Amino acid sequence: MLSEFDLIKQYFKRELPGRATLGIGDDCALLTPGAGSQMAISTDMLVENRHFFAGADARCLGHKALAVNLSDLAAMGATPVAFTLALAMPKADPVWLAAFSKGLFEIADLYGCELIGGDTTRGPLNICITVFGELAPGQAIKRSGALAGDDIWVSGTLGDARLTLAGLRDEFPIDHASLELASPRMHLPDPRIALGQALAAGGLAHAALDISDGFVGDLGHILEASRVGATVNVDALPAGPALAAQEAATRRQFCALGGDDYELCFTADPAQRQAIIAAGAACGTPVTLVGVIDAGPGLRLIDGAGSTVDLDAAGFDHFTLP
Ligand code: ADP
Ligand code: MG
Repeated sequence: MLSEFDLIKQYFKRELPGRATLGIGDDCALLTPGAGSQMAISTDMLVENRHFFAGADARCLGHKALAVNLSDLAAMGATPVAFTLALAMPKADPVWLAAFSKGLFEIADLYGCELIGGDTTRGPLNICITVFGELAPGQAIKRSGALAGDDIWVSGTLGDARLTLAGLRDEFPIDHASLELASPRMHLPDPRIALGQALAAGGLAHAALDISDGFVGDLGHILEASRVGATVNVDALPAGPALAAQEAATRRQFCALGGDDYELCFTADPAQRQAIIAAGAACGTPVTLVGVIDAGPGLRLIDGAGSTVDLDAAGFDHFTLP
C-alpha cells in the first residue's frame, strides 16, 4: 500500500518548471500574481453518484474535474494559472490513479494550469479542485452587468451531454451512433477559455456565466444579478450534432434545460455583433444569438414564429428532470 506521500510523489508531483513560486511539498504553495493582475478563484467538487456514476472512467474524471473548474475561469474571462486538488478515495488503486492523473494533466498542460498542492485522504470518491486564474483588474465579466437591449449569446452547442445522460439512464431509445457522437460532451467537456479571454480583453460582453445546470436556470442567475428579464427564442438555441437529429420537443427541452454543457452564455451590446462573431471565429468556437435582455423581469421563451413556448407543456413526458 502506498503511503500518502509516495502517492502524491508518484502521481501528482511533477518536476517541471512551473509558474508557482513554490509548488507541492510545503505547508502552502506560493503564487505570485503577475504585476498589475487580479486573481480569479473558483472551486468545484465532483462527488461519486451525484456528479458521476460509480465506476466512471478515471481518465475522463481527471479531465472533467479540472475542465468544469476551468469553465468558471472562462466565464469570467480569466487565464488559468494554477489549481489545487483535494482527493478522497476509498483506496489507493494504482491503475485508477495513473489514468486519473493522465486525464488531469492532459488538460492541465493544454491550458498551462499547474497543480500546486492539495490534500489526499481515504473516503468515498470525491474530487475537489480549486483553480486560480489571472486577468487585468476591471476586466472580469460578472453576472451582474446585463443591460436592457443586450443581445444574449451562447457559445458552441447545447444538449448533447443531456442526451448522453438520457442514454445512460435508458430514458428513451437512442441509437448507438448518436450516443457515440454525444458522449464526449458529457465526459470530456472543453472549457471555453479562449472565447472568455477574448470577450474580457476586448470588453465585448456585459455579463457572462458558464452553463453547467442548464441554459434556462443559468441565464436566470444573470437576470437576477442584473435585475433584468429576457426573451429567448428556444428554437435558436444551438443543439449539439447528436441532439439535432432528435425530435423537436426533445431538442428544445435538452437545449433549454439540459445541464453539463460548459458553454458560455453572455450578454452584449448589439453594436458588438460583428466583433463577437469574429472573436468566436478566431478561437474556433461558434457563437449564436438566442435572445434579448428586457428591462422588465422574467424570462419569456418563444419559438421561431414568436409564439410563447411552455417547455413543460411541450408534449415531453419521457423523463423527469435531474
Ligand atoms: P498537510 O499535512 O500540511 O496537510 P499534506 O501531508 O496533506 O500536508 O500534503 C503534503 C504536500 O502535498 C502539500 O504540499 C500538499 O499541498 C500536497 N498534496 C497533498 N495531496 C495532494 C494532491 N492530491 N495533489 C497535489 N498535491 C497534494
Ligand atoms: Mg493535508
